[in-house]
Amino acid sequence: MVSVSPFLDAMNNMSQIKKVETVLPIARMTVNMTPLVTGDHVALQTAITSPKSFDRDLCKVLLARSEFVGEHATEKKINFNEFTDSISNIDKLSLIWGLYKASYDNLSDEREIICKNENCKEKIKVPISMDDLIHEDTFTVWDKTDDNDEFISFNKYRYVITIERDDYIYEFNSRIPSIMDNNRMLGMLSTDALQHNLDTIGSVFTKPQHMTNLVDAVRLSSKSKKIDTVETTNLDEMLLSFQNYLPDQVSTSFFKKYGEHFDMYTPKFYYNATCPVCNNKFKHTIDLETEFFLTALYGDRGSI
Ligand SMILES: [Zn+2]
Repeated sequence: MVSVSPFLDAMNNMSQIKKVETVLPIARMTVNMTPLVTGDHVALQTAITSPKSFDRDLCKVLLARSEFVGEHATEKKINFNEFTDSISNIDKLSLIWGLYKASYDNLSDEREIICKNENCKEKIKVPISMDDLIHEDTFTVWDKTDDNDEFISFNKYRYVITIERDDYIYEFNSRIPSIMDNNRMLGMLSTDALQHNLDTIGSVFTKPQHMTNLVDAVRLSSKSKKIDTVETTNLDEMLLSFQNYLPDQVSTSFFKKYGEHFDMYTPKFYYNATCPVCNNKFKHTIDLETEFFLTALYGDRGSI
């Protein structure tokens, strides 16, 4: 290949030198991440116009800085739609971890955490490196099979959660959302609503929003045939019904059953802390997706 600019070539090569290997447990892939470049940084530092567009920008940066290795390495780079459709939102967390590590090494130089001992609750400031967050139990590789014991990819896999309450039977077609599914759900949130969720419940989605993201169909039927069986696959209908009509007891059972079946696959990024005052040892969990949104909303990494 004829080089147009030796200077640009050299700069390009420099930007690729530091590679951080990260594991995508659901996609069962290994990806090398290269550091954020100044242009990416500018794109992500811009105030969030909407959570959906911020997430899209973040995913574009993640894709641009990803290098798929092993059998998934292809000549042709995977395009944005393939990427968001074929990679789970859970795996996005591993990509964010790799991007942070390649770019900064540390999650925070001085993170304030609170001792979990109820009688102590001391505020401690600790440096947390990205490597500190990885432990033997951090990753569980996706291993679900279909009825014929054949391996089935996450985007084809559905798990029906059935909950009976009095005469009624609720059936939820549950799944692991892809990056695209999650982005669609973020489209239902305004920046104000996101900020409100983070400030009040400390997570991106409210309970009904989160639940809607985890299912793609719901059916309601009656044991005594009091009502005709009804079902929907419509996102707005599911969200509205979960928000306004679904008994709290049913959603609580849903999350319990969903967690028992799927939680093992969510990477556990946590810091092993020891309180200098009471010597209590505890795990401080880091939610990397929330972390990214907080950074974008409030600036200053490490001050959160
Ligand atoms: Zn303590």
